[in-house]
Amino acid sequence: MLKRFLMSLMLLLPAISLAEPLMVEQAVPGIYVHHGVHKDINVNYGGDIGNIGFIVGSKGVAVIDTGGSPKIGERLRDAIRKVTELPILYVINTHVHPDHILGNAAFKKDHPAFVGHEKLAAAMALRKEAYLRNQPNWVGADANGTELIPPTLAITGTQTIDLGGRTLQLTAHPTAHTNNDLTIFDTTTATLWTGDLLYVERIPAFDGDLKGWLKVIAQLRNFPAVRVVPGHGPVTTDWQSALDKEDRYLSVLLEDVRKAIKQGKSMEETIENAAQSEKGKWVLFDIVNRRNISLVFPIMEWE
Ligand SMILES: [Zn+2]
Repeated sequence: MLKRFLMSLMLLLPAISLAEPLMVEQAVPGIYVHHGVHKDINVNYGGDIGNIGFIVGSKGVAVIDTGGSPKIGERLRDAIRKVTELPILYVINTHVHPDHILGNAAFKKDHPAFVGHEKLAAAMALRKEAYLRNQPNWVGADANGTELIPPTLAITGTQTIDLGGRTLQLTAHPTAHTNNDLTIFDTTTATLWTGDLLYVERIPAFDGDLKGWLKVIAQLRNFPAVRVVPGHGPVTTDWQSALDKEDRYLSVLLEDVRKAIKQGKSMEETIENAAQSEKGKWVLFDIVNRRNISLVFPIMEWE
């Protein structure tokens, strides 16, 4: 009996310890993107819901976001190693949300510069305790080894980094999706990584300043980009339309909540009714729209 148990355990072990490199697509030469699945951040979301990836120059690699656990980060690292042996010089975080940064620890052994918005370090410090407390609920045993690693290179305004024959323009934006949103523009291929400043297919989640976000959307339109890698959803060349769609949802949300407050409606009532004209146009609409309203309403009450 015991022997049979041990035998079956041994059969199971390789399956548990082996993790495949993440699937990545080469969007354009030197730019690789892994697409997570559209799931809400809640119990057992698994750490793999956003777009993460890397850019390869002649001197080395820049990682853009690391996923929601060291395991996902490690699998991204394995995907990089299938493409190139060049050193990993930079690990760039687009913003503080756990699905984008909690894989950072997997890259410590590469001694990269960790790069983020000038306000990212403070945002990480503020959320550290809650993120580490929730992490086992979010990703189970993959929570092992999770660390919040703040930037060693903090970006103010627009700064460039050089990967060897390839310049990345990093821009720290005013408060929008969060107060620490950073975009990455690859000048070689005119590819813009927006982080969660742009959602495609999946409903935008609010955690910053709604009016600020609408302003930043208008500014993003000025990038001479041919294609965009959004924070969630497919890579798109039709990115101006994607910004239109996002602008429309956020504007409707703003208007509906403003109207409800003016009419003296309660938050509970507003959660049921605001932005319902957008239902059916987004993945995860019900759960995330409610959460957005519950965050926007108390802020706008004091307008
Ligand atoms: Zn986010």
